[in-house]
Amino acid sequence: MPTKTFEFQVEARQLLHMMIHSIYSNKDVFLRELISNASDALDKLRIEALRDDTLNADVSDLHIAIEADTDARTLTIRDNGVGMSHDDVVQLIGTIAKSGTAEFLQQMKQAENTAAAEGLIGQFGVGFYSSFMVADEVTLLTRRAGETTGTRWASTGEGTYTLETVDEAPQGTSVILRLKPEDTEDKVFDYTDPAKIREIVKRYSDFITWPIRLATRAP
Ligand code: ADP
Ligand code: MG
Repeated sequence: MPTKTFEFQVEARQLLHMMIHSIYSNKDVFLRELISNASDALDKLRIEALRDDTLNADVSDLHIAIEADTDARTLTIRDNGVGMSHDDVVQLIGTIAKSGTAEFLQQMKQAENTAAAEGLIGQFGVGFYSSFMVADEVTLLTRRAGETTGTRWASTGEGTYTLETVDEAPQGTSVILRLKPEDTEDKVFDYTDPAKIREIVKRYSDFITWPIRLATRAP
């Protein structure tokens, strides 16, 4: 399947620019956002499977997996939840339809370079795009439960993203983060460190009811 390139709309570009150049000290919240999305996707699948018994979905081992690879400098957050169709990805990830985002951008502009900016990212829950605070490339591989083909979305956050239809994709969504180099050299921000990951999960995602499994590969 050919890979197609698309441009982010203006608001998305502004938000991404802010994330990439974030001086926000508490970047840890990206993991809270991705785990929250994974948990929502599992909730949605459970409800959908109850409503529709013809849904051809696997609901046997619903969980969230976090996989860290220190050598490859990647962190993957995976769920086997409801996933997204190709159209869902275009709608939900490619554009920013959230009502809170315009408000967030407005406040962020006013707060620029002041201490107030610090609190805004945490306060607004800026979602999936917060991945770009810690990653210089984000790949999302997803397959909607009940559908046969999947979709791969990828971006460095700089103006464009790519979309590709893939034949082989597990049910649900994987978000693969290629971590920014500075975040692995500085121990404070080593997001492949299992102790660091556990600490963030405990701090922000302790209330999540789905199992969260952590697998790490260190040299
Ligand atoms: P929010 O969660 O507040 O809606 P996000 O930016 O975090 O905003 O995510 C945007 C949308 O993308 C979600 O509402 C959801 O529809 C979709 N999405 C994100 N992550 C996943 C996922 N892991 N599985 C399924 N859908 C997802
Ligand atoms: Mg979210």
